[in-house]
Amino acid sequence: MSADELTYYRGRVGLHAILEALGIGRGDEVITQAYTCVAVPEAILAGGARPVYADVESDGLNIDPEAVRMHVSDATRAIVVQHTFGLPAAMPAIMAVARERGIPVIEDCCHTIAGRLGGEQLGRFGAAAFFSYEWGKPLVVGVGGSVRVNDETLASRLRAAHRGYRSPSLARQLKLGLQYAGFGAVYHPRLYWPVRAAFRHLSRSGAVEGNYNAMAAGEVSEEFRLDMAPMQRALLAVKRRGAARDTAHRRSVVDHYRKALGVFEGLFVEPDAADVVYARLPLRVRDKPRCLARAQELGVELAQWYTSPVHPFEGEALRRVGYEPGSCPRAEERCATVVSLPTHRRVSPRFVRRAAEFFREVA
Ligand SMILES: *Cc1c(COP(=O)(O)O)cnc(C)c1O
Repeated sequence: MSADELTYYRGRVGLHAILEALGIGRGDEVITQAYTCVAVPEAILAGGARPVYADVESDGLNIDPEAVRMHVSDATRAIVVQHTFGLPAAMPAIMAVARERGIPVIEDCCHTIAGRLGGEQLGRFGAAAFFSYEWGKPLVVGVGGSVRVNDETLASRLRAAHRGYRSPSLARQLKLGLQYAGFGAVYHPRLYWPVRAAFRHLSRSGAVEGNYNAMAAGEVSEEFRLDMAPMQRALLAVKRRGAARDTAHRRSVVDHYRKALGVFEGLFVEPDAADVVYARLPLRVRDKPRCLARAQELGVELAQWYTSPVHPFEGEALRRVGYEPGSCPRAEERCATVVSLPTHRRVSPRFVRRAAEFFREVA
């Protein structure tokens, strides 16, 4: 663990800690993008602030700098910038708006550990960045998160507060350990759909730690004062030793997908001077429901997130996290059209060929 890094129970707990260290709370607004996971507004709301959703770029999956400018108000105290699937956000334009108004930027690096933009590492543009190590993220330890701080004053505040964070209970640690072992033993791209169904079932019953909390009104989960469990910290250190190899694998898998897909207009354009390492490869399809149904039938790993602008909330439930349905039409369009392919270690050349065949048939 480097000196400018701190661990937390989850990524969202890290974001909450950053907001708290910045003195952000009741009456304050935090701008974030639509086409995100509820973890982000959950952290903002847990600190008492209000999430304000900006739409994504006209042809992309990341926050639109113009939308950020439009949503800045006198109450704006931070901007959370997500590098969706590992595609770098438009940092120079966003940083320009932020600097003009003196607002700190927090990078959501939950989908990226190695990407760069204009030679600079993602996570080094803003005041701080947070990471997640849950299923589906670039490095997996089960449940876990960390924060990297680029500002010395903020770093010392975070370090001081971090002394008050406790380790998860032994019962919780045991659950995380079993969950990690179980998932590692059964997971394979061919088993994506049945494993996903089992995971959902178990997390609803409370037997495993799910990805989403119910978020009862006015209630703040005790997770927001927890550190990463010791076993997960040890696992993270081990996984980091293999990170360069993992990144090389992800690059090679994406090269193979591109070759196998040939001319396919569903790929997203990468920003200039970007070095992209995809956590998953996002693709636009015409008929998402049919595409997913076919993938499930054929046993092809194909993810559907995000299915809603604040995943997985739908309809009226979106208002509970401060999202007005219809307010970010581009993000809503992406929810209806984007699927993603895996790039992780268990993706073989054979899987790439099957996936490409599948897209030629379905997309
Ligand atoms: C996974 C994720 C998070 C937070 O993850 P935790 O479950 O809190 O570790 C935040 N933002 C994005 C974009 C994510 O994908």
